[in-house]
Amino acid sequence: MNSLARQTSRPLLATRLQGFGTTIFTEMTEQAVAHDAVNLGQGFPDEDPHPAVVAAAHEALDAGHHQYAPGPGVPSLREAIAAHQQRRYGMTFDPSTEITVTFGATEAIAATVLALCEEGDEVLVLEPTYDCYSAVISMAGAKEVRVPLEVPALSSDGGAETGFTLDVNRLISAVTPRTRALLLNSPHNPTGLVLDTATLDAIASCCVENDLIAITDEVYEHLVYEGEHVPLATLPGMRDRTVTISSAGKTFSCTGWKIGWACASPELTGAVRAAKQFLSFAGGTPLQHAIARALSLPDDTISEVTATHRRRRDKLVEGLRRLGVPALRPAGTYFVTADLAPLGHSNAMEFCRWAPSGIGVAAVPFGAFVLDPEPVRSLVRFAICKSEHVLAEGLRRLESLARDPG
Ligand code: PMP
Ligand code: GLN
Repeated sequence: MNSLARQTSRPLLATRLQGFGTTIFTEMTEQAVAHDAVNLGQGFPDEDPHPAVVAAAHEALDAGHHQYAPGPGVPSLREAIAAHQQRRYGMTFDPSTEITVTFGATEAIAATVLALCEEGDEVLVLEPTYDCYSAVISMAGAKEVRVPLEVPALSSDGGAETGFTLDVNRLISAVTPRTRALLLNSPHNPTGLVLDTATLDAIASCCVENDLIAITDEVYEHLVYEGEHVPLATLPGMRDRTVTISSAGKTFSCTGWKIGWACASPELTGAVRAAKQFLSFAGGTPLQHAIARALSLPDDTISEVTATHRRRRDKLVEGLRRLGVPALRPAGTYFVTADLAPLGHSNAMEFCRWAPSGIGVAAVPFGAFVLDPEPVRSLVRFAICKSEHVLAEGLRRLESLARDPG
């Protein structure tokens, strides 16, 4: 115990941050680095963004964009986001009052939840749950209410093309008079589920009938391989009760730039900005300029990223299945779900803690996204956003398990 800890009889860490530990992504990447493992854990690409996007960042630095951006974001980026929402989804947002640039989607989610939730308010989330949702809901003093997705049976012939699904009735029955908001992630990390229009229609009706605010995390909007991404805000009654959140990280393979945004009605935007100004105020001015340029490049800059990831998804899924590992082919995102039980590893948490040193592969256990790990005990999440030779090397290392089941 250090001297500061001796001064106080209570824990240093505030109650609202207790129990979250260090994120699983940090833990697994640290293990990958320590053991020089193939990192199929944390979702970040190992290849550079499109050269035009990198060039735009260099140009922004050379042009002298070194000082604070306006709190809501540089005007050219807000205009480019508005044009993107219009072009892709037919949605109109006023860049001056309805778009806020944030430090990644993470800050947009935090600002929105902190701005909108009173203590004791309930916020619905899908489970498996992306980690920052739980932490930020707790920081706001609100209560997270998890709506579990249905877990598919993964068959050993790899045939389980029906992945995780949402039974909307479970979501509807989780609504109470205390429910303030629904924080919805589609395409969904970690399952790869892309909610279809019928499901989104039912969710929209639920929000309208119960007067809920929707906060949508759409960071994988352009990483959809089957079906299409439909923003919840495009559905009837949702335009003015939704905060639509996304970021440039996945779309342009620059996760470290942390340029995100929130699009919403002027009233909701006012609330988001009220919180955001005291979180980071503003960040990454030159990178904001670069993403403004990136969003204005021809659309095939984005579709190339999608096509590359679709190829990598298929390579990883087929490679895993060849090893006798049931693997879900995700409709979207950076992630493949695999069941390691047939290889003798029925405890994914133990496997993921051992594998970086054991076979030189890092992955993320599904247990990190759920409160009760039992139904997903043997499931791991493998990232597909890695170059082909890295995926091939990961599969080669996993092959030792197939030869010699643990
Ligand atoms: N939401 C989900 C579902 C994610 O997977 C991630 C990881 N990038 C984020 C939000 C965070 O996005 P950003 O890096 O833009 O903050
Ligand atoms: N979204 C990334 C993932 O799911 C991780 C981002 C982070 O480390 N916070 O792997």
